[in-house]
Amino acid sequence: MCGACEAACPVHAIKIEEGKLQSVYDCAQYLDHCSICYDVCPHTEALLVETSNMGCYREVLLGQAVERRVGAGCGGGVVAALLTHALEADIIDSAVFSGTKLKVPLELEPLVSSASDDLLSATEIQFFPSAVAKTFRSAVLEHRKQRIAFVGVPCHVLALRKLEAWQHRLAENLKIVIGLFCLWTFSSSRLFEYLAKKFNIKASEIQRISLGNEYNIHTRKGITHIPLQEIKPNILNRCRSCIDFSSELADISIGGAHPLTDWSTVIIRTRRGEDFFNNAVKHKVIKTKEIEEAPEVLSQIIGMATSKREAALKEVKKRKRLRRPIPPAMESFVDGGVAEV
Ligand SMILES: Cc1cc2nc3c(=O)[nH]c(=O)nc-3n(C[C@H](O)[C@H](O)[C@H](O)COP(=O)(O)OP(=O)(O)OC[C@H]3O[C@@H](n4cnc5c(N)ncnc54)[C@H](O)[C@@H]3O)c2cc1C
Repeated sequence: MCGACEAACPVHAIKIEEGKLQSVYDCAQYLDHCSICYDVCPHTEALLVETSNMGCYREVLLGQAVERRVGAGCGGGVVAALLTHALEADIIDSAVFSGTKLKVPLELEPLVSSASDDLLSATEIQFFPSAVAKTFRSAVLEHRKQRIAFVGVPCHVLALRKLEAWQHRLAENLKIVIGLFCLWTFSSSRLFEYLAKKFNIKASEIQRISLGNEYNIHTRKGITHIPLQEIKPNILNRCRSCIDFSSELADISIGGAHPLTDWSTVIIRTRRGEDFFNNAVKHKVIKTKEIEEAPEVLSQIIGMATSKREAALKEVKKRKRLRRPIPPAMESFVDGGVAEV
């Protein structure tokens, strides 16, 4: 017995003695009001449905930048607003993020910036890979930055946390990790070939790609809507076995708030993330709404997180059956039988 029930009980009704649970007094009649001993027990299913596919968190809410950038796409512009404020308030000395190349709208370049203007002009979402973790190194070694905010998708966040676990000296300069939700990243060559063949859309015609319930390809001629399952063959192979939708290891995770197109969902996970976010709210840079005001947003996120995880586990099992290589990090999920899908 781990004693979480005793630790959590607000009225000391439980005691673990010599490995046995003792009821100091019977509080069964109050269970409708307080079920914390049951909820925190690692052997019950309580709380897991809501949290298990989204990682641990302190709070989930909706956020929107008070001053939204002209021409901003979908989303609340929360990442750009947080970074801009933190730079101006000298909470960070730089941000490492991915910006769109000026002349090539669908191409990304990882950037180190200590100027808020860069952040605001280059934050369009791109569903293609970005070598942003590599740029973290040049932020430290070339630009000599020491209080860096890092923005990336779940695999980038995992890489940064691994650097920390390794106690790599680069990681000492990490101030805050902002993780983005991510279903998949596309292989640009595969996606462009598919769009050309199926819809006669050339890569050069694509102005933007956005995501709601389906992927939307914006061109001057209009918007082509493509369901998730139909576009899936064009994702990167490594994304097929990724189980993390919401950047579970970030200090703050930020993603879409479908169907609210001009808000972002914000998951605050750590104390550090909470202080960072609340500072921006206190300075009226970001406004918030309780997630309970839009319950459909949370169920959509849980649905996405669950289906990403289930699809990844299915994929790994399939590869195992066909004796194809499995990412080492996923071995234990299959061998340990963590989830049957
Ligand atoms: C590949 C990818 C897939 C995503 N999939 C989903 C999804 O399925 N569901 C969902 O709700 N949200 C998804 N998102 C997150 C979502 O699109 C927004 O990033 C998030 O809502 C933040 O919006 P914002 O308006 O607050 O951010 P903004 O203030 O507009 O800032 C966006 C930030 O994203 C960074 N960025 C842009 N493209 C990339 C990239 N390719 N790699 C790393 N960083 C990048 C920019 O540097 C910028 O800091 C995805 C994002 C990416 C990059």
